[in-house]
Amino acid sequence: MPKTPRTIHFRGDMILLGTGTSVGVPSIGCDCDVCLSENPKNKRTRCSIILGLPEGNLLVDTSPDLRFQLLREGIGIVHAVAYTHEHADHIFGLDDLRLFQFYLDHPLPLHCATAVEKRLRHSFDYAFSDREQTHVGAIPQLVFRKISTDPFDVLGARVQPIRLLHGPRFEVLGFRIGNVAYCTDTNQIPEESLPLLEGLDVLILDALRHRPHITHFSLEEAVDIATRLQPRQTFFTHISHDLDHDATNASLPGNMQLAYDGQRIALT
Ligand SMILES: [Zn+2]
Ligand SMILES: [Zn+2]
Ligand SMILES: [Zn+2]
Repeated sequence: MPKTPRTIHFRGDMILLGTGTSVGVPSIGCDCDVCLSENPKNKRTRCSIILGLPEGNLLVDTSPDLRFQLLREGIGIVHAVAYTHEHADHIFGLDDLRLFQFYLDHPLPLHCATAVEKRLRHSFDYAFSDREQTHVGAIPQLVFRKISTDPFDVLGARVQPIRLLHGPRFEVLGFRIGNVAYCTDTNQIPEESLPLLEGLDVLILDALRHRPHITHFSLEEAVDIATRLQPRQTFFTHISHDLDHDATNASLPGNMQLAYDGQRIALT
């Protein structure tokens, strides 16, 4: 284990690690045109971003594809994590965080709401247990930092959480850093959250497919939101195999496009 990681601290950028829906694209066993496409922009791992903040790299969510995503982008270290919500496609890469405690010499902070902490403690009981157990020597060292809708400071930046609805009753968080906002896994932005999304340079917004869905914006609904909020640019994420990258982008206004894995966006 190298004591010093091959750190790539990409200060000033956000990298979209994954832009796919919960099963990813291609979807296992599917032979639709998008799943069989050789266009790399139609290959979508599970949703996550990482931000190069002034004092380190802030990962948003730990997707089941986390290890692959960090290796693909050459990112040697994560300094802190923030969670949007506790669905499986956003948390089940947590064990891959185990490496970073050795590089950091301290437990890795996880910024999340109480419900997310509860789910993580339940799903990864070995990581949060004091009892004698089977994972000795291979336990992630993690520390919870509770967040709500109040702004919080992390790695030299201020983050504004944004309350979103992901289905009729499930509250999740989006995040705004400067003039860039990330709002995945939502199909309703409550009225009181809309002012927090004004004056953006970049909005990254959930857009699953053309047809409506009970917990995600359709592309048409997402376009309506972007038209209302007027960010300079909007990129859509959490994309299913219903949307071909090039064909869909050709149908959209120039300042609204499907995002893709590995895309870099400047933090402003
Ligand atoms: Zn999701
Ligand atoms: Zn398919
Ligand atoms: Zn979700």
